[in-house]
Amino acid sequence: MSRTWDTIVIGAGPAGLAAATQLARTDQSVLVLERKRLGGLLWNANLVENYPGFPGGIGGQELASLMVEQARQAGVRFEMEEVMELTEDAVGFVVVGRENEWKTRTVILAAGTCPKKPIFRGLETLGQGAVEYEVADLPENLEEKEVLVVGGGDAAFDHALNIVSRGGKAVICHKGERAGALALLVRRASEEKSIDVLAGVALEGCEPGGRWVLASLSSGEVLDVDHILLACGRVANDRLLAEPLPRGLFPIGDMVNGHYRQAAIAVGDGLRAAMRIEEMLRGEDREPREDEDMVRDEAKGPMKDEDIRSNEG
Ligand SMILES: Cc1cc2nc3c(=O)[nH]c(=O)nc-3n(C[C@H](O)[C@H](O)[C@H](O)COP(=O)(O)OP(=O)(O)OC[C@H]3O[C@@H](n4cnc5c(N)ncnc54)[C@H](O)[C@@H]3O)c2cc1C
Repeated sequence: MSRTWDTIVIGAGPAGLAAATQLARTDQSVLVLERKRLGGLLWNANLVENYPGFPGGIGGQELASLMVEQARQAGVRFEMEEVMELTEDAVGFVVVGRENEWKTRTVILAAGTCPKKPIFRGLETLGQGAVEYEVADLPENLEEKEVLVVGGGDAAFDHALNIVSRGGKAVICHKGERAGALALLVRRASEEKSIDVLAGVALEGCEPGGRWVLASLSSGEVLDVDHILLACGRVANDRLLAEPLPRGLFPIGDMVNGHYRQAAIAVGDGLRAAMRIEEMLRGEDREPREDEDMVRDEAKGPMKDEDIRSNEG
């Protein structure tokens, strides 16, 4: 643990990758620690159509891979390890992983969200891999596989479209009479022959079955499926977050953005945190000046040319 990093980024999703790329461009030493998959939750997105720069959209995996490649090209280093603890010391922070420890002057915490894990009767009787929370954790080839997707939000419908694009068949069940997902996604799912939607239906229990899982639904139906994919919402992964927030710790991205959970927002958070850290490490730690405030009320008027130029980088 001899070296002290300028910044350690916890989490290699869009927020952490954007922050790390920006810091590396300003010659800060930056290390990204990731417990699961470089690219974060974006790996699960079937088609990202609202990230600027990609007319026609881009697959989530492809966008995530491009972000990782860009960070590497900028000189960012990665280590695959889960961070278990974060403590303050005289220099800044000690980051304690499952196996290693690192010292750093500042920390960007971009740990994203965790899935909500509803309990169903019989869940514990199923083998590993029968129930998943991320579509990226299902086998890549889903030909002749049938997946019960539980949930009625954007993620559930996006997952179903993803499953079909990988050769599988999806049944979505959601409790409400109407799905809460974007109308665009609901329409696309309704146009797919390999997607069935069961509205007003809940998953009640499950047990090992012919394909892999027998899923009992509140409608009385029993489905014989290969996997159950639970898309029942997500909560902030704020386990490492200290209160009050110590100087030098910057939580960003989905973990602090409530329901505004979008890649472009997370990326913007990453850039802002990186710029704040650069100022701080240059000894210019200060509150943002009034003329830097990006949210302008009408009294202040639109941004001036010189403000826009000063933000170019
Ligand atoms: C199905 C689906 C479709 C989506 N579609 C879109 C879309 O079309 N457009 C869009 O803009 N957004 C979309 N999103 C949302 C987008 O993926 C997220 O907003 C974005 O990934 C958030 O970035 P983040 O970096 O804040 O968090 P995440 O991407 O969640 O990254 C957090 C990372 O931190 C890691 N981590 C957590 N704890 C630790 C720890 N203790 N130690 C080490 N690593 C840790 C996690 O493993 C993860 O890789 C979609 C999401 C899903 C699930």
